[in-house]
Parts: sequence; structure tokens; C-alpha cells
Amino acid sequence: MQTLDRQFIDNRWQPSRGERRLAVVNPYTEEVLAELTGGHPDDVDAAVAAARRAQPGWQALGGTGRAPYLEAMADGLARRRQELAHLSSRNNGKPLAEALLDLDDAIACYRYYAGQTRALDQRQGQDVVLAQPGLQALGYLDPVGVVALITPWNFPLVTSAWKLAPALAAGCAVVFKPSEMTPLPELALAELALEAGLPAGVFNLVLGDGEGVGAALSSHPDIDKVSFTGSNRVGEAIMAAAAPASRAVALELGGKSPILVLEDADPERAAELVMAGIYFNAGQICSATSRLLVHRSLAEPLYRALAGRIDALRLGDPLAEGTDMGPLASARQRRAVLDYLAVAEAEGLAVVRDGRHRTLPAHGFFQAPVLFRDVPAASRLWREEIFGPVLCGRSFDDEEEAVRLANDSDFGLAATVVSGDPERARRLGRRLRAGTIWYNSVQVVPCETSWGGFKRSGIGRELGPWGLNAFLEVKHLLGPAD
Ligand code: NAD
Repeated sequence: MQTLDRQFIDNRWQPSRGERRLAVVNPYTEEVLAELTGGHPDDVDAAVAAARRAQPGWQALGGTGRAPYLEAMADGLARRRQELAHLSSRNNGKPLAEALLDLDDAIACYRYYAGQTRALDQRQGQDVVLAQPGLQALGYLDPVGVVALITPWNFPLVTSAWKLAPALAAGCAVVFKPSEMTPLPELALAELALEAGLPAGVFNLVLGDGEGVGAALSSHPDIDKVSFTGSNRVGEAIMAAAAPASRAVALELGGKSPILVLEDADPERAAELVMAGIYFNAGQICSATSRLLVHRSLAEPLYRALAGRIDALRLGDPLAEGTDMGPLASARQRRAVLDYLAVAEAEGLAVVRDGRHRTLPAHGFFQAPVLFRDVPAASRLWREEIFGPVLCGRSFDDEEEAVRLANDSDFGLAATVVSGDPERARRLGRRLRAGTIWYNSVQVVPCETSWGGFKRSGIGRELGPWGLNAFLEVKHLLGPAD
């Protein structure tokens, strides 16, 4: 068993001041993989100070100077793709095939921002066109400064790539805190940073939980911006902590996304997309399409197709070939899902599949896939993020009703529209209040597109040029025309 009691600060592993120990558990075998320091606010102070020292030099390199480091990070991940996917699968419980997709996403992200940081040099010093004669103005994009990056456990190496790659590309120095539940794959980032020859202090990684390091990091006076992905509860605490210092925050929070199946959709294709939207990663996806809205005329064939597919899902060892769904990532997460299932029972929701007929593996934090139908819009299961393999369905009679039900949510992260007519799907998608609308597609997220939500799903956007802008300050110089 590994003991992880050091912090990566200034390119060195330095002992943590934290005295609490947290267990890092394999959710399939239930074995303790490592003992992790809970971290200490002094660790955060040291990491922030290192980042502060390093930031001006990193900025001075310019985009062209920084790009090779991002490419080296991508190359390092690509070299270790199999090993890291394996580790991610063991730490998080996701099937190996899904972990490999995660690695590909992360690699593409570092490469994309290597290109973006090169292009950034060309965006510096551009003329701002002024209506007023006799003046000239030049526009610049400066890094935000020293940033705190805090991530959850559901997509190790991916949620971190979406922050770390653009932050480094922008010229920020970072203090990164991965989830205390899945630190093992993320530790590779420190090794890759060393291999890439990143200057000391540009990338610092602090291990621990919210109590040990998260709260200290997100309220640190020397941090210029906090970029957070995780729950609304913690996101709101981070925003409150930032308020007295008017510190900028970017928040990627929860979701309760709808999938709309129109009457002209092919039920088998629709079933495929519905399944992928909720049972991938055992439903632990912020953009999980956990609310199914199906046209009444298609409801029966669709529920039949879904029931068959749910029964065919193979639950088991995430590392075994052919496993479709692994365990949930932790005992705590399974408990949270079971609590919702108890609510469903009390509310008397109509069951299509509740998994009671299934034999689950003898160990591991497994939850069988669940499907409820005709769920009232007032049900807690319809309104709240469950973060597990639980799908709630209801029917609609026309497009107006579908749009109204889809938008009737506190969240607005994503949505999917399934229709035999792509033009109609796009037109309807334009009416949905969410940051990503897939039509007739599984949930692919190319790094050139944007990621982020409307309403309580967050503040700001990741990926694409918007992801880089999140780590840049806009400024201009103005004076008499030469
Ligand atoms: P969480 O909020 O419990 O934890 C996220 C991170 O915050 C962890 O690293 C944790 O240690 C840290 N943290 C905890 N308390 C803190 C504090 N007081 N100050 C600062 N940091 C603190 O979330 P989770 O359970 O790890 O992840 C699940 C949630 O993440 C879900 O709600 C999901 O929707 C959301 N999520 C959103 C996206 C997105 O892109 N919108 C992506 C993935 C996950």
C-alpha cells in the first residue's frame, strides 16, 4: 500500500504538514490502495508562494515558449496511456474502455491548448478600432495570474486537463487539488511536469480534502482565480469565500439534463443514445441525461427497448473485457443513490427496472441500473441530481410541452434531442437552455467546443477558445495616435 504524505511544490515532493490520513479505495475490490494525507493549510501556503514566484517567468516565455511544455505533457500522457487508464479504472471503478477514452480526451486537450497558446502571441498588441480621431489603442491578453484548480473524482485526468492545459497555455501558474478519492492517476501529472521540464513552481499539486486544503486554497489571499468543478454545495461555498476579496471564480457544477425523443425517432437508435447518456460511467456524469422525455406515441416501444438493453448490461470487474458498467466510485456515492431509491419507493414511482432481480458481484460498490417511468415533475428524483445509474422518464404530447418540461429545471448543463429529422432536432435544440445540446449523438465533447452550463450548472465556460479566455485578463493601452 502506498503512503502519499508529500506535496508536489516547486518541482519537489515535500512532506505534508497534514496529520489526518484518508484511505484511497479501489471501488471494485474494496481494497485500500493508498493512504493519503488530508493536507494542511501550510501546504497550501507553500504551494501558492511557489506559484507566485514562478508566474512572471512563465508569463514572460510567451505562448510560443510555453507550447512545447504542453505538447510534452500530451506526449507523456500518450506514452503512459495504457498504464494510466488502468490506474484510473482501479481508482475510480470505471470500465477500462471508458478510462482509455478519458486518456484520449486529456491528450487531445493538452495538444489543442499547445496550439491555442501559440496563436495567443498573434493576438497580442492588436489595434482596437476607435471612432474617435487622434487616439490609438492596443489590446492585450494577460494571464489571470496564480490560479487554484479543484476537481472531482468522476473523470480523473480529464477534468484536470480541461483546467490545467488552458491555465498553463494562458501563462498562469497553478496550484492543483485533485479529488481525495481519485488522486492516483492525477499524481502522474507531477511526474509528467518534471519530465517535460516545466520550470519549478509553475505546476504545484496538493493532496488532501476540502477541510485540509480545499477551503484554504479557495480562500487564499494570493490566489487570483479559483476554477472549480464539483458539487453545487462546495461551489457555492467557494463563491461565498471569494466574495469578500472580489476574487474571480469559474464553476462547473451539477446537472439534471434531459434527453428528448421525438415521435419521428427510430426507437432502437433512441434507446442506444438514452442508455449511453445515463449508464456510461455508472451515471456519474455531470451531463448525464437523467430525465427522459419521450413522445407518448413512442413510449411503449422505447421502454421495451430500454428494458432489454438494461438487462443485457454486464456489471462486473472494470478491468475485465466485456464489462459495461463498473461499481460506483465509493461507498458514499452508493449510499447517496440508495437514499434516492428509498425516496422513489416512498413516492411510489412506477418501475420499469429497479435491479432487484439482478445478482450483483460479491464485492464492490455496485448499483444496478434503474429506470422509472411516468415520473411526476414534482418528484425529487425528477428534479435533483442523483449521480448514479438512475433514469427517470415521462411522456409529452407535442414539442411545446417537451421544451417546457426540458427547461423546467434548476440546471442547464446539457441536453440531447433524438429525431429522424436533424433540422428539426437542431431547431428544437436552439430552444433549450443548456450549454451543450447533442442531437442524434452520444455525449462526445471535442476540446474545440465549449463546456459549461446555464442556471445553477455553473459560471463560465471551459474548452475551446473560451476555456483559454477564462484564464486571461483583457487590457488595452491607449494614447495619442503616433
Ligand atoms: P465535491 O464538490 O464534493 O468535491 C469536488 C472537489 O472539491 C474535491 O476535490 C473536494 O475535495 C473539493 N472540496 C470539498 N470541499 C471543499 C471546500 N470547502 N473548498 C474547496 N474545495 C473543496 O464534488 P464530487 O463529489 O467530487 O463530484 C461530484 C459533483 O461534481 C457532481 O455534482 C457533478 O455534477 C459535479 N461535476 C460537474 C462537472 C461539470 O463539468 N459541470 C464535471 C464533473 C463533475
